Amino acid sequence: MPHHFGSIEVVTGSMFCGKTEELIRRVRRAVIAKQKVQVFKPIIDTRYAYSRVKSHSGSDVEAIPINNSKELLEKLEDDVTVVGIDEAQFFDDGIVDVASELADRGLRVIVTGLDTDFRGEPFGCMPSMIVKAERVDKLNAICMKCGEDASRTQRLVNGKPAHYNDPIVIVGAAELYEARCRRCHEVPRD
Ligand SMILES: [Zn+2]
Repeated sequence: MPHHFGSIEVVTGSMFCGKTEELIRRVRRAVIAKQKVQVFKPIIDTRYAYSRVKSHSGSDVEAIPINNSKELLEKLEDDVTVVGIDEAQFFDDGIVDVASELADRGLRVIVTGLDTDFRGEPFGCMPSMIVKAERVDKLNAICMKCGEDASRTQRLVNGKPAHYNDPIVIVGAAELYEARCRRCHEVPRD
């Protein structure tokens, strides 16, 4: 049964906050409610199996890998009523218009993504997506240093906090990410 009206729901927060787990939970409930669901994810996310969205705790749903926001509309099937978009921060800005268009058409759109990058600054399309959404849930992870609620993603390169100006990819470096609170989040700038 189609929804009476469409909407955008954003689930956001730092790495390890359980965003993808929450997306999977909502998608499963929609399937139980006999909604037709499609989940999309950027091709850049190759952490896990090619055609699935997987949470850190191991649960997963089927997902369609796409290169850009335009491809989402091309691969969207006619009778779909619920669309999931995982790791939205990696998509081009056009993904916000696509999500809005689908919501205007009456679809329920569930979007997950990191709200900030490792510097603690707005990540790609996410601020605009949050502004366009009917509902936003910002989840907290647990700070790996002090155990408080964590809202930031700490990037470590060879065991040390990544510098503010470090490139996104450092060839040959051992990279690691941790959830950190405001106090423990370190971004050296000099
Ligand atoms: Zn902390």
